[in-house]
Amino acid sequence: MKVMIIGSGGREHTLLKSCLASDLVDEVFAAPGNGGMQAEARCVPLNVEDIPATVKLAQAEGVDFVIVGPEVPLSLGVVDALEAVGIPAYGPNKAAARLEASKTFTKDFLLRHHIPTAMGKRITDLNEALAYLKTQSYPVVIKADGLAAGKGVIIAQSFEDAERTAHDMLVRNTFGVSGHEILIEEFMDGEEASIMLMVSGRDYVMLPPSQDHKRIGEGDTGPNTGGMGAYAPAAVVTPDINEKVVKEIIEPTLAGLEADGITFRGTLYIGIMIEKGQPKVVEFNVRFGDPETQVLLPLLKDDPVKIMLDCAKGTLKPAEVKISDDYALVVVMAAAGYPGGYEKGKPISFPAEVEPGTAIIHAGTKQLEDGTIVTSGGRVLGITGTGKTLREAAQRTYALCDQVHFDGAQLRRDIGYRQLARE
Ligand code: ATP
Repeated sequence: MKVMIIGSGGREHTLLKSCLASDLVDEVFAAPGNGGMQAEARCVPLNVEDIPATVKLAQAEGVDFVIVGPEVPLSLGVVDALEAVGIPAYGPNKAAARLEASKTFTKDFLLRHHIPTAMGKRITDLNEALAYLKTQSYPVVIKADGLAAGKGVIIAQSFEDAERTAHDMLVRNTFGVSGHEILIEEFMDGEEASIMLMVSGRDYVMLPPSQDHKRIGEGDTGPNTGGMGAYAPAAVVTPDINEKVVKEIIEPTLAGLEADGITFRGTLYIGIMIEKGQPKVVEFNVRFGDPETQVLLPLLKDDPVKIMLDCAKGTLKPAEVKISDDYALVVVMAAAGYPGGYEKGKPISFPAEVEPGTAIIHAGTKQLEDGTIVTSGGRVLGITGTGKTLREAAQRTYALCDQVHFDGAQLRRDIGYRQLARE
């Protein structure tokens, strides 16, 4: 089988490694890929938001299966467009991708199907927003409706903060069309975790729960990022909470989608907040999380490509999928200055070999003509390791981090700290 991977981050590099290890895959290429992926497979230039160009490329290459990494092409209907020309793809169709692409759609969906989440109200008019904000207790959460690459969520500590944010989004257009409709949401106070499912209609494989580290600084301080590290399984999702997630969140979500006439095939990522023992939905994403994917795919004992293919074709047999009981951890190495402005083009030096059970995943890298790999993004690399305990996974990961160098590299030394402290 010939496979095309769409995307260029750490998530897509992990997917590429799965394809290279799969018996089902004879040939794989990435579009557009990155510097590290280029060293392992062919990479073809592509604007992933150009759906007709994506379909044309898949047809010209004669691919048998497409794996879609990022959310924007999914929300633009890339899977529908590929299926229309007879090419199966892993990822939800446009209707199902609204679970990520529209926060107000999702809030309506959750409340209508009685799935635990924060109360929220959708508003398009500033006066209505201000009147509503006067009735709220603080902090309150204000979200731009559409995709905003992680920047469209503001936690307002006071009415004045909230008023400014509502004005910025609804009147000053700071988030463009994404902010023309906003969601004002009750603040949930608890610990976050992520649940990733590989879904085929009502059937699904539940991957181990994971925990991301969004802030740039150790101890969860400083500005938000795309994610500085993650680990799995996250013990904060106890067996009791896991059961509640299955019964109160997953089952009604998949039943609700079916009742609403939406067929979901692909990854459903559920961001949860655990508030006094009760898991509540913070958000849905409709694709693999990054960096969580870098720790979850290595914990699958079965071929991830087979599972993706089964999801796309509707032939998934969840009971047959085996998951390892090891731990995995990823540490992101980022460019100096990230998440603010950062420089690109710094040469990266790598160890000659990496120990089995560890990996260097490329995210923002580029390969120069002479073969040198240089930085080309904010999050540059994901360093991963597995182990029988979380501590072992962390030790192996950080030992590998110490062998990778580029000018100004920043990384958090405390990934997994909450769980390591509890152990
Ligand atoms: P974007 O659409 O900009 O990419 P996103 O999809 O990351 O944003 P959310 O996941 O909804 O947006 O929110 C981002 C973060 O904000 C969450 O991970 C959580 O930490 C915090 N957050 C969101 N909603 C709430 C809430 N109701 N209570 C407390 N914290 C919240």
